[in-house]
Amino acid sequence: MEVDEPKINGDEVLVKVACSGICFTDLHGYLGLLSSSHRPNPYAGNRPPPWRPKEGEIVGHEGGGAIAEIGADVPDGLFKLGDRVCVDIFAGAQGPVPDSGINFASGVPEPWVTTRSRGHSGMYAEYVAVPWQGAVKIPTEVCDVAAASVEPWACGTRIARHSGQVAGDNVAVFGFDDYTASAMVWAKRLSPKQLVVVDALPVRREAALRFGADHVIDPTTTDPVDAVRDLVPFGPDVVYAGVDEWLEPSLQNIEHALQTVRYQGTVALTRIYSNRAFAHVDSWNLWSREPTIKTFGSFWCDEMWRGGKERGDWLLTVDAMAQGWIRPQDYAPKVIPFEELKTSDDVDRAFRAQTQERRKVVFAIGSDDPYGVSSSTAT
Ligand SMILES: [Zn+2]
Repeated sequence: MEVDEPKINGDEVLVKVACSGICFTDLHGYLGLLSSSHRPNPYAGNRPPPWRPKEGEIVGHEGGGAIAEIGADVPDGLFKLGDRVCVDIFAGAQGPVPDSGINFASGVPEPWVTTRSRGHSGMYAEYVAVPWQGAVKIPTEVCDVAAASVEPWACGTRIARHSGQVAGDNVAVFGFDDYTASAMVWAKRLSPKQLVVVDALPVRREAALRFGADHVIDPTTTDPVDAVRDLVPFGPDVVYAGVDEWLEPSLQNIEHALQTVRYQGTVALTRIYSNRAFAHVDSWNLWSREPTIKTFGSFWCDEMWRGGKERGDWLLTVDAMAQGWIRPQDYAPKVIPFEELKTSDDVDRAFRAQTQERRKVVFAIGSDDPYGVSSSTAT
């Protein structure tokens, strides 16, 4: 689809996109599986996410690229043309924090993508306009695929920080998507006694082993609660669980997590896009085991307590990538060159590849070396 190159406002930069991933959130939206209804959250915006992309709408919010133009009001010296950045979709999208004196942005009502809340397109495009606060510099060690993965992996960072896991805990992961893969990488830093991953997809179980799981379990052939309990008789101290609505067995993940976690342990919930998984939850289990339930979902909202943006989930994730111990490229996404997307059928196949081939998809848009550092910087 041909569109005009976006025009930037004074406080924005133009980013020439190198790679841009299909978030599992995008996928759920594409498949019409975002169906939660919720009350407005003053921190995270006030629009519930039941939408599907409209015809002709350019979505995409996991992207990285290079600075191609700098607005007149962007602070001097912050960027130069060609600087590699990833795009933080939340910076600038979240309005004032009550009683803090902090205003993260312009109070845009959409919690989704900064660029889109400003009327710009998403990141399945060659160029995207971004408020300067949302352009985060990427060190040279971080490849284009990783740069495009900061958003989902930062979600995992956040979950891990919220989990309360301590060194030596036993850990289980139900549903090995990119969020929980990231959470698991953090979990490994705390030397878990045992780390068990449950996922119905072989490709994900293989990935979990690459990322250092001690055991993987296929819940379609083995009772995962029994299997985890055989390995960890009292149950894991911390269980990370996420739900893929398009993958039937994963609708059991929350219930299985609750049955598996040790008495008074913690269940850290990652993605849950509808109430369907809760229909499987046994209420007796929920209250009688006294679990602590942890969630995530409001980026940038506790950073003033943590010590500012530098200690936020986003920059911690970028730092971990620069140090080489968060490596989204090892999750082995399928990289599809943008030129191959000519018709809406091609786009449909790309999205469905994420369910049928069971692999995360990343579009190589301007990148000529997705697993290296893009040489296609600004034009
Ligand atoms: Zn995402």
